[in-house]
Amino acid sequence: MLSESLGLGSDMTILVTHLHGDHVTGILGLLQTMSLAQRRKPLNVVGPQKLLKWLEVTADLLHIGLTFPIRFSVAKPGLVLKTHGFRIRAAKASHSVEAFSYLVEEFGRPGVFYPEKAKALKVPEGELWSRLQKGKPVAIGSRRIEPSQVTGPPRPGRKVGYSGDTRPSAGLARFFAGCDLLIFDSTFRAGDREKAVARRHSTSEEAAELAKKAGVRRLALTHFSARYTSVSSLVREARKVFPATVAASDGLSLDVGYPE
Ligand SMILES: [Zn+2]
Ligand SMILES: [Zn+2]
Repeated sequence: MLSESLGLGSDMTILVTHLHGDHVTGILGLLQTMSLAQRRKPLNVVGPQKLLKWLEVTADLLHIGLTFPIRFSVAKPGLVLKTHGFRIRAAKASHSVEAFSYLVEEFGRPGVFYPEKAKALKVPEGELWSRLQKGKPVAIGSRRIEPSQVTGPPRPGRKVGYSGDTRPSAGLARFFAGCDLLIFDSTFRAGDREKAVARRHSTSEEAAELAKKAGVRRLALTHFSARYTSVSSLVREARKVFPATVAASDGLSLDVGYPE
């Protein structure tokens, strides 16, 4: 987070899918680092009920005093959090312990405002500009100016899905329908499907099949088993089914963009 300049004091929501060590233990260090940086803003944390208990008990045992409050939301299917810019919904994942998948849905926004167009139409700067920027029409004398005359097309909100550890399921394909970016469990390659079934994970091929079914724009594979020295074969297998696939890696930056 530091190397990506994300800032330790910014608005932030941590989504925890389930209580397995590889998804939980790192949070403690992060919270401590935030406290060292004197974070004051509340931190949103969403996760299974017992996550809060674990945080409280370990913070107490290790004498970790946080400089900021934690706003905890219990993960459950449906809406789990809403902010001014987006909402987060959860769905049951299919793993060896209770687990959730998350969908971050940005609210739609009015189109880009073009000041030169407003000036050309002699709309006085100020209150009227702000109304048009918000997508509302304005009246100047007998003239009526529509927002579409001075702004680009409305920008629909973007959708980013995160599966966490899971087997693929029809329910998740529906949950992730139309995502701009889907980040999905890809622990095993297709040849190791039996292991994926036994350990309640997915293969890269299964992730791709689900992405195709859900009609997402792009798929990022993640959570690769350490048994593979290279993930290129997993990406290749997935691309045969769903070409718009990349392998997620630390620090990878993807432009989610706005759907046309
Ligand atoms: Zn797990
Ligand atoms: Zn895991």
